Amino acid sequence: MRLTIIGCGDAFGAGGRLQTSFHVRTGSSSVLIDCGTSTLIGMRRLGLDPAEIDAVFVSHLHGDHFGGLPWLLIDAEFVIKRTRPLLVFGPRGIEARFRTLAEAVYPAVTTGEGTFQFTFVEYEERAPVEIAGISVTPFEVHHPSGAPPYALRFALEGKVVAFTGDTGWVDALYDVARGNDLFITECFQYDVVMPIHLDYQTIDANYAKLGAKRVLLTHMSEAMLEKMGLVDGSRYLIAHDGMTLDL
Ligand SMILES: [Zn+2]
Ligand SMILES: [Zn+2]
Repeated sequence: MRLTIIGCGDAFGAGGRLQTSFHVRTGSSSVLIDCGTSTLIGMRRLGLDPAEIDAVFVSHLHGDHFGGLPWLLIDAEFVIKRTRPLLVFGPRGIEARFRTLAEAVYPAVTTGEGTFQFTFVEYEERAPVEIAGISVTPFEVHHPSGAPPYALRFALEGKVVAFTGDTGWVDALYDVARGNDLFITECFQYDVVMPIHLDYQTIDANYAKLGAKRVLLTHMSEAMLEKMGLVDGSRYLIAHDGMTLDL
């Protein structure tokens, strides 16, 4: 599988990075993990074809993680003229939140005939969902966003990759990260401990217990980006927009 970082920024445009979205291509399918507002722009920059996307897995209902869905919709309707359904997996209430957002930015976009269907599937705590050979297990974390937020653990092509989404420290992250070939963790702060975001010092204090082969830091704030020189390069990979990893 190939992971491409479309965007690894925070909600505030830190470092000029695009909002969160990761592209995963396996031998048989392509999916997105999160779809921040700038996702379609990032896909165009990288030559990633939205028509190939089979599913979108949304970690939580903040704009920098799901706000790009209306642009996937208008691209699918008016440019690609997509006919097959696009599956969107996300927290409880995602369809209503999406419709409110899409109708605010493009009135009537969700009410017409349409060329295709967005099909929404809601997560259930630690209940795996499966599509095109990819199994995804959601673990509830802590990040108030109007609906339960999740870390997502993916099993695909014999590899295990997980993403924390946005969250303060919760012990469920041990279950999320255990045995990962790649653990993608938000790292919003360097040493400021917040209830709703992770910081480098907390991640590093738990590094051995996480038990992941590789750890990739993402979703850095300006404050974290300024401290990048202090990151232990023997332990961590640091995400940048356009980065690819083959597993
Ligand atoms: Zn975020
Ligand atoms: Zn968030």
